[in-house]
Formats: sequence, C-alpha cells, structure tokens
Amino acid sequence: MEQIIEVKGLEKFYGNFQALKGIDIYVNKGEIFGFLGPNGAGKTTTLEILEGLRKHSGGGFWLFNNKIENKLPRKIKEKMGVILQESEFIDHLKVREILELFASFFEHSMSIERILKMSQLEEKSEIFVENLSGGQKKRLKIGVSMINDPELIFLDEPTTGLDPQSRESIWTLIENLREEGRTIFLTTHYMEEAQRLCDRVAIIDRGKIIEEGSPRELINKYGGNSQIDFECATEPKEEAIKQLDEAISKVDDHYRIETSDLTETLQKLVKWSEKFEIKLANIFLVEPDLEDVFLTLTGRELRE
Ligand code: ATP
Repeated sequence: MEQIIEVKGLEKFYGNFQALKGIDIYVNKGEIFGFLGPNGAGKTTTLEILEGLRKHSGGGFWLFNNKIENKLPRKIKEKMGVILQESEFIDHLKVREILELFASFFEHSMSIERILKMSQLEEKSEIFVENLSGGQKKRLKIGVSMINDPELIFLDEPTTGLDPQSRESIWTLIENLREEGRTIFLTTHYMEEAQRLCDRVAIIDRGKIIEEGSPRELINKYGGNSQIDFECATEPKEEAIKQLDEAISKVDDHYRIETSDLTETLQKLVKWSEKFEIKLANIFLVEPDLEDVFLTLTGRELRE
C-alpha cells in the first residue's frame, strides 16, 4: 500500500519540554487516519510539523515519499489541504467571496460551485460569514481546505463544539472526501468520531504513540467485555439464574452479564427467558469503545 505520510522518530522540544518523544506513524493513501489523544498529548504539534508550520527537533518525516528537510517544497504543499483549529474568517465577506479569496492564492483551484456543493453551502453562498452557524463555518473551513483540490487533507478537531446534527453533516462530508480517493489525517478527542470515520488510528499520550491499528482491532484487543444489562418482570429463581451459565451479577435492581461474544450471549439469554417464562425488560447493551482502549492502556480517562 502506498504511504502518503511516514513519520520516524519524530521529536519536538519547546525549550526544555519534550512534547514529542520520538513518534512513528504512517498514513496509507485513501484512508482516514485518526490521531487520538487527550489534551496536551502532542496532536497539534505533530500536525503542525507535518503541515510545515513548525520545525521538528529530531527524527524525520516523508510526505508523498519525499523526505522533508526544512521547508515543505511547493509541489508538496500544492497537494495538501490544511484547516487550522483556530482559523477565523473575515466576517464582513460573503461565503463566495471567502472562497474566491482563497482560490486566488493557488495557481490551480477547484471551481467555487463545486466547493459550495461539497460543503453543502450552495444556499449560503451570498451570506456574510458572521451569519453562518457554527456547523456551517466548520464546513466552510473544510471547503476552504479543499480549494486547491488536495490529495491529502489535515483536519484538526473538525467537529469540536458542534451539535450532533452539524457533526453528522461534517462526518458525511469527510466520508465523501475519502470516497473521492483523498487521504485524510484527522485529530480528535471524540471517540465516536474516530470509530465512525477512521480506517486506522494511532493513540498518542504524553508525546509517545501507545498503540495503533484499526478501531475494531484495538477494541477487540484492549476494549474488554461487552455488557448486557436487563431487568426481569418476574424475579427468576436461583435455579434459573444458575442455568444461564454466564458471568452474571446483580447490580441494583437489574442483572448484568459480561461477555466477549455479545450475539451468542444475547441468543442464550432470549432462549433462557423463554424456557423459564421470564419476561425481560429494559435490555441495555454496552459495547467497549476506544475510550475503554485508552483506559486499559493508560489507566486514565481520555477526557481529563
Ligand atoms: P489539545 O488536544 O489540547 O489540542 P494536543 O494533543 O494537540 O492537545 P499540543 O498542542 O501538541 O497537544 O501540545 C503538546 C504539549 O506541548 C503540551 O504540553 C503543550 O502545553 C506543549 N506546547 C505546545 N505548544 C507549545 C509552545 N509553543 N511552547 C511551549 N509548550 C508548548
């Protein structure tokens, strides 16, 4: 598989403080790669080094198979789309004017109409930026990052602070970018975002990569068991409980089964309830997620 980004032993010092302690990551062509970690882990530092906005202190990295020494060569920059976490637009410009402004920075740019369509802002093209909602502004930022028709797009926390509906529309937009064959490097601390979008993730903590793989691989390896919580309308007899033959426990007024095979255990539970004529109620499934992976690996919660 062709690698668009390769990072080896990357280090970054801010004065005496070492923010990156020799990290290794790679990103394959056409994938959404998620860079996950708690606040201060080193995500933005890494991203800004790769974008050419910061200098690294040690190690090295390759973009499109080119070793990057000091400055990013122009031909590499032209293949990259960058959206910055804090970037703000000039409020008294209209959406279309913003896109025209950014397009003017590049020799080759996508058509404004196409960008408006991709970022679902066709109806907002004549609106002043200050009147856009938070979600629409984020979509405009992604639209701006697409202006040079990039092969590789960097997205730094693209949905932070958005409501679920706006988040959903950004996720769809990002998935569409992958559909078009683009490669996406995304930082996030939303685990559901990583699980929904990412083909592979790397987890960074205190400047070190602690694991990498597909979300599914990591969850299977470190996520632990799933839980089935349920209530019984009629209290089952001790004998019946024993027959369930699972790791079952009583938690307050409901039962909890821990299992490594959710489907099989659910089937067993339903058969069991039929056999003993027990009416099950309020069945609640909890599957392990990337939060659990992080907790297993570090003993800490991702969101501190
Ligand atoms: P967040 O999720 O909060 O954005 P992050 O994972 O992106 O966090 P970075 O912004 O890369 O983390 O910061 C990594 C570490 O480096 C933090 O401890 C931060 O305080 C420190 N740091 C970042 N920029 C500088 C700087 N310019 N000078 C000194 N220390 C810095």
